[in-house]
Amino acid sequence: MKIHEYQAKEVLAAAGVPVPPGEAVDTVDAAVAAAEALGGSLWVVKAQIHAGGRGKGGGVKLASSLEEVREYSDAILGMQLVTPQTGPEGREVKKILVAAACDIASEFYAGIVLDRQLGLPVLMVSAEGGMDIEEVAASTPEKIFKVSFDPGAGLPADEAREVAGRLGLEGGLVEEMAGLLQKLARCFLDTDASLAEINPLVRTTDDSLLALDAKFSFDDNALFRHPELVEYRDPAEEDPLETRAAKFGLSYIKLDGEIGCMVNGAGLAMATLDIIKHFGGEAANFLDVGGGATTEKVTEAFKIILEDSDVKAILVNIFGGIMKCDVIAEGIIEAAQTIELRVPVVVRLEGTNVERGRELLAGSGLDLISAPGLPEAVESVVAQAKGGADS
Ligand code: ADP
Ligand code: MG
Repeated sequence: MKIHEYQAKEVLAAAGVPVPPGEAVDTVDAAVAAAEALGGSLWVVKAQIHAGGRGKGGGVKLASSLEEVREYSDAILGMQLVTPQTGPEGREVKKILVAAACDIASEFYAGIVLDRQLGLPVLMVSAEGGMDIEEVAASTPEKIFKVSFDPGAGLPADEAREVAGRLGLEGGLVEEMAGLLQKLARCFLDTDASLAEINPLVRTTDDSLLALDAKFSFDDNALFRHPELVEYRDPAEEDPLETRAAKFGLSYIKLDGEIGCMVNGAGLAMATLDIIKHFGGEAANFLDVGGGATTEKVTEAFKIILEDSDVKAILVNIFGGIMKCDVIAEGIIEAAQTIELRVPVVVRLEGTNVERGRELLAGSGLDLISAPGLPEAVESVVAQAKGGADS
């Protein structure tokens, strides 16, 4: 789960990381009132969407008067913001953050991710922070310093000092930076984050350190123990089909291709995606109905796949272990009775109650393509998705 910048800053501030004062609002009048309440003479108006690169897309503006706060808020609220991370269609801005602007002396990067190879969290820092960090990582990776740490112990003070010392800071700021990095590590661990990032983390002209932008992603499987983080969920930023699937206990992931996949179990889902690619196709999504799906769940799963307009053909690939093939068949039949099967459906069933499942499908009068094995099923669905008549 992702959260907005203003929420990420609340998480950081609660851990003692300094952030500029600000307020998230959804109207122009509230934005001006927030700037007035903040005081000062320089503000920043920032689009709140679940994607980075906002500065480059015109979603971050410095305002040096209340009139400018009004002007920029009016321009940014409701805009379809396109950034390098949103895709060409962009994201509608429904909320903005009005924050005090500061005088920046230098911009650093600090981020923590899980390194899957090491099996440990890794802190990355760079003195070349700001809007071009992706470029720095690609062309001069030696300017990014990394240190992994034990999630049980957190980031040790000496390691924190060591990386802080590489940022060209002087005097007490090295110690201050080290403390800040330890707090960031603590936040990462305490929230079960998969990403915790401050970019830019700035040194101001009066020599203090401030987190001007922040980003968190949390592990969905750990959210059950963070009800306070679940409160931050913004359904408007999530794929509506993913939200609906989650409600029914289904794992649905939207992808870029045209073959809708209904499978049971994450391992089979991965294998199915691989084999679709092997036969020259691309999956539009995968929907994992899990081990103990009911007819109702399967019906909902089928409806969700059919609602994705990118789907040109559907592959049902079920290996019935705990899951029973006849339950899957009933779900497909029930779904077909309530919504039109507007695309070809290829079914490969194997395992528990497979004979009963095949009988049900064969006797349903539905126009389904039954495949004897997985390679045949995938070859057929790839041809169907491409508009071929191979069945
Ligand atoms: P994004 O990463 O989505 O482009 P940021 O919040 O990092 O958005 O903002 C982009 C740039 O705007 C920052 O690198 C920084 O230079 C400037 N900026 C952001 N917030 C402030 C602020 N409070 N005061 C001054 N400048 C800011
Ligand atoms: Mg940023």
